Amino acid sequence: MARYTGPVCRLCRRERTKLFLKGPKCMSAKCPITQGRVPPGQHGRDRQRQPSEYAIQLREKQRARRTYGVMGKQFQRFYRDAARRSGITGENLLALLELRLDNVVFRALWGSSRAQARQLVRHGHVLVDGQRVDIPSYRLRPGQVVTLNPKARDLDIIAFNREHLTREVPAWLEVTDGGSGVRVLSVPLRDQIDTEVREQLIVELFSK
Ligand code: SF4
Repeated sequence: MARYTGPVCRLCRRERTKLFLKGPKCMSAKCPITQGRVPPGQHGRDRQRQPSEYAIQLREKQRARRTYGVMGKQFQRFYRDAARRSGITGENLLALLELRLDNVVFRALWGSSRAQARQLVRHGHVLVDGQRVDIPSYRLRPGQVVTLNPKARDLDIIAFNREHLTREVPAWLEVTDGGSGVRVLSVPLRDQIDTEVREQLIVELFSK
């Protein structure tokens, strides 16, 4: 599956907000958003006029897409799936994005960013119910258990992340195996998802 490979801080500058795509740098004074850098491009400094309703909705979609590292077509599939389910479409959409395997690895504090979590999955360091799964977009279901491959437990990068990351593991995940595993307890509710996205705007965009 395709993924964005360009400079990620540029994406945050474009959205004028922290998307936390770089791990520890995001919390440091080196973060371009903290430094007040303007949006990228020749006219970045000039983008001050009142945006249209469509532009606001589009930016919200881009913010969600970039936060979870999902490309456009794949995001549309997520949306269609969310709309088919009962309940509030916007909340369904965020829940489906949260249930991606790479996101769960990130939430379990094994990866400092979703990009790093994705790489851990791609390199076969993660097991789902005891079976190796190397597909970052794999959708987890309640009851499934994600664990680190026994060899991966000794990886410096994972040990470092587990020791230094200050995020909390969300309540919809239960830590098992002394931190080397997590069980999906339920589909995450909106108030258990800390992603700063106004999902209703995305629904309005796709409903046009
Ligand atoms: Fe975004 Fe992190 Fe780069 Fe800051 S350091 S601009 S939060 S990716």
